[in-house]
Amino acid sequence: MIKKIGDVTLIRLSDLDSNIYVVGDTVIDTGTGLNFTRMMDMFKAMGKNTDDIKWIVNTHGHFDHIGGNGFFFNAAIAIHEADADIVEKGDQELSFADFFNGNLRPHKVARRLRDGDEIAGLKVIHTPGHSPGSICLYDGKNKILFSGDTVFSNGVGRTDLPGGDEAQLKQSLEKIKALEIDKLLPGHGEPVLSNAKMALDKVAEDFY
Ligand SMILES: [Zn+2]
Repeated sequence: MIKKIGDVTLIRLSDLDSNIYVVGDTVIDTGTGLNFTRMMDMFKAMGKNTDDIKWIVNTHGHFDHIGGNGFFFNAAIAIHEADADIVEKGDQELSFADFFNGNLRPHKVARRLRDGDEIAGLKVIHTPGHSPGSICLYDGKNKILFSGDTVFSNGVGRTDLPGGDEAQLKQSLEKIKALEIDKLLPGHGEPVLSNAKMALDKVAEDFY
């Protein structure tokens, strides 16, 4: 499925793959990689080519978000420094690749991101809780938040896996709630295309 959201294109390959967002020559998350031929077909349908992608930004180091990294042959990888070793070592355990029946290959990380950095015109917001190196990416001009698995349209990311931390997730949610957000583009499920602040307040209320 392909969905246009302004300048952003959302690609969804399967229930196991993360949402994949294409913004110019950048992709935010790459899915498991297990359905990559379908992804190439979708790029073609958009009049694009996966080889044209210059940057991959991973919202965190779980297999369903990073497994497809290696299929973008000309792209450099950026991920928060706390999850970067998962990508660089191809860490089968911390990426939970086994759970997806996947095999994570190691890939060089070109940029280890930190809170406040800017990449592809987006501000990096460190939001640990689902994983130590989880980030959200904020487009302040258009009030868009790419939220990875930190928060979805109707709930928060799980914190019961190794590396998860519920108290941290609460703090991260507070950090996000302080932003002006109109559109929420999460790592799984449906995006919120208007008035996302209301949806976030509701999620927070249910969570606390
Ligand atoms: Zn995850």
